[in-house]
Amino acid sequence: MNNPSSDPPVRTGGTNRLRAAAVSLARWFDNSTASPAAESEPERIDWLRVIPFIGLHIAAAFVVVVGFSWIALATAVALYALRMFAITGFYHRYFSHRSFKTSRLLQFIFALIGTSSVQRGPLWWAAHHRGHHRHADTEHDVHSPVTRSFFWSHMGWFLTRGGFATDTSRIPDLVKFPELRWLDRFDVLIAIALATFLFVAGGYLERNHPELGTSGPQLLIWGFFVSTVVLFHATVSINSLAHRFGSRRYATADNSRNNGVLALITFGEGWHNNHHHFPASARQGFFWWEIDLTWYVLKMMSWLHLIWDLKSVPPERKYAGAAA
Ligand SMILES: [Zn+2]
Ligand SMILES: [Zn+2]
Repeated sequence: MNNPSSDPPVRTGGTNRLRAAAVSLARWFDNSTASPAAESEPERIDWLRVIPFIGLHIAAAFVVVVGFSWIALATAVALYALRMFAITGFYHRYFSHRSFKTSRLLQFIFALIGTSSVQRGPLWWAAHHRGHHRHADTEHDVHSPVTRSFFWSHMGWFLTRGGFATDTSRIPDLVKFPELRWLDRFDVLIAIALATFLFVAGGYLERNHPELGTSGPQLLIWGFFVSTVVLFHATVSINSLAHRFGSRRYATADNSRNNGVLALITFGEGWHNNHHHFPASARQGFFWWEIDLTWYVLKMMSWLHLIWDLKSVPPERKYAGAAA
């Protein structure tokens, strides 16, 4: 509607630009479902907030520039393993499904490690994942490859304006912890801290242990960018590939699949049809031949009394409807 008489005069100049920049910056830390960005056009890609995600991939490509060293590769692999475990064991099996109990300190430590994976905070992750289970492969599922495209299920959904929001009504048991709310809001800072540490550590090793053949930029690119990008795509393959490719032991209402290759890459998450059949179980490989690295580590942690009350699938559910 064109009604120039009632429009306020358009002001241009430094103040407005500064204000616009401040609003944009504040948006990076705004995860509320009631934010203007989430409410207007929730399925539109939020290009401003997606810049770090794109930057992550571009930076990883610099691996061809910084060269190779064994210490850089080992750092990348170690950080992949540690953070994959934090995602599968804690973001997923603990925060999203409450499949075991632990202390508030250990809860925070693994939430912190999980946050360094650049998959947003534990509240955001758990809220979306609980929504996925509630609506799996229906039109209300935010990342179904059945009702939407493969690209959408893999990464499109969370690049959108609505995708940044955390629906706290789904996580009343988690949102009461202020330290978790803090991680959720300032997740970017945790990633920056890890990246900075790797850069400084690489510089230190270059000066004091030149025989290792590494440097600040090299440890940063391998340890942070390459490791994080691989970790990200491995994790979200459970949303995309594990709802398309693999076998179905249980006739769940969704299209979830058991996929041994994905289970190896994601430390047990590939037994996704098992998981949708009985999500509360801390163990996703229901049978001895279904390798579930996360479960083995959780079991060892329980022997050390770091975690307890691990839930398992009851035999009557394990064999109910099992085709294999
Ligand atoms: Zn699923
Ligand atoms: Zn789940």
